[in-house]
Amino acid sequence: MTDLEPAAMTVVRLDKKGDFAEWRAAARHLLAQHIPPHQVDWRGPDNDMSLFGDQLGAAPIRQEKAEGRAPTISLPRELVDMADHIICHRSADVPARLYRLFWRVQADRYLLGRKTDDDVHWARKMVKNISRDIHKMHAFVRFRHLGVGDDGRENYAAWFEPEHLTLRLGAPFFQRRFSGMNWAIITPDARAIWDGQRLVMGEGGQRDDVPDHDVVEQQWRAYYGAIFNPARVKISAMRSEMPKKYWHNLPEAQDIASLLAGAEQRVAMMQAAEHQTPNKRTEKWQKNAQAALADVLGGAGDGLDAPENLEQLGRSLDQCRRCSLHCAATQAVRGEGPVDAALMMVGEQPGDQEDLAGRPFVGPAGQLLTEMMAQNGLTRSDIYMTNAVKHFKFQPRGKMRLHQRPTAGEIDKCRWWLDLERQMVRPKFIITLGATALRGVLGPKGKLADLRGQVIPLSDGAVLFPTIHPSYLLRLPDKEKAAEERAMFAADLRRAAQHLAAAGVG
Ligand code: SF4
Repeated sequence: MTDLEPAAMTVVRLDKKGDFAEWRAAARHLLAQHIPPHQVDWRGPDNDMSLFGDQLGAAPIRQEKAEGRAPTISLPRELVDMADHIICHRSADVPARLYRLFWRVQADRYLLGRKTDDDVHWARKMVKNISRDIHKMHAFVRFRHLGVGDDGRENYAAWFEPEHLTLRLGAPFFQRRFSGMNWAIITPDARAIWDGQRLVMGEGGQRDDVPDHDVVEQQWRAYYGAIFNPARVKISAMRSEMPKKYWHNLPEAQDIASLLAGAEQRVAMMQAAEHQTPNKRTEKWQKNAQAALADVLGGAGDGLDAPENLEQLGRSLDQCRRCSLHCAATQAVRGEGPVDAALMMVGEQPGDQEDLAGRPFVGPAGQLLTEMMAQNGLTRSDIYMTNAVKHFKFQPRGKMRLHQRPTAGEIDKCRWWLDLERQMVRPKFIITLGATALRGVLGPKGKLADLRGQVIPLSDGAVLFPTIHPSYLLRLPDKEKAAEERAMFAADLRRAAQHLAAAGVG
């Protein structure tokens, strides 16, 4: 070849769109053969024509990429993870641009740290787009009940239209969440099937493959109608969290227009009713509170007025002698946040720093929680934050005070205070963090392992989202496991944020 002759192009034909393994094998072969990006012509299953035209001679490598072991090429783990996401993007130039990134990283190991570089900037933007698409899938897939299968397990199916080819990455979330039932998620490009043992990917399908209606849909619509608060509607937040393009797959979306249309009238009715009718629930607990408070305070409460607001409740809390935890703790730690908060977050108990400061969630776990809430659509200042147990339980060890988990009896005794807070704040949503908080709200009814990720209607009309306590994330020694658990916790918070936004209170 002379300098004047064009270099031969290498054509790579990919059989499937969004298949990372296939693309990676091809890319590794190209790198091993030192073929630069401008000499590679990437073609997909539905673009047999070259992205750059067929004017140059071609020297296909197709069989090599599909057979035998891919040569070993050392690549930064971060780039491989990013590429696994980016390949799911529908843009036709993704295989070529990704390969250029892989090629350049061979010569510059620090390339990914150069945020102003065009290719790096592009890659990070693509990862964000794909992560957002996966997040939407987690939020907006709605399963239809198909009945009980021969194996005695419940069968469910869902139709979903992601913007990109993200089912492969989105499906493991559903495997973890719904491992106890058989399900299939069908998209136009692929389907994911879980049979209790294996998660299998298959061909795409059509909307008709999944029934339009079922019993669960009626329950979901009833639930949505019940939690919809017309006085707190924020249409812009609702639209951004629940874009219109997903509405046709959401049973509750059928009701949004009529709920919004009647919102103004319902607000007026609610305001009128509030002025005319005393709240029956408030009256009932106020009637019983005096006697119960005297009981709780072990005599010290005789003659005290029942707490009528959170301030009074805080003062009474300091005098509680109902269990022995008050003996060693510095002070009872009351909840904090808006009295009319739509969301209440319940933790376990105050930790060492909370006990000294007299405020909830100010220690390391609280800081992590605050940071993750902000990243996942929840604003701490809008939330009423409290604990299931109000005094710090610990074991002295030298100068340290080591956290000890409260017993079931201590949680049950302290529930009286938590119930009062719930009656005063009347949150629409409650997030419980950890098993102690779950017991504080539900009593001995359910295990966190069974209930995590579920949306549980409570008898007072609130909706419960059980998840783990953030201190669990700080205790995990294994980095990979910690990252996985952190991602799951973030998904739990996002899910709650989406429910709030959908109810117009986010
Ligand atoms: Fe009272 Fe709860 Fe403190 Fe026990 S932990 S003394 S029940 S406030």
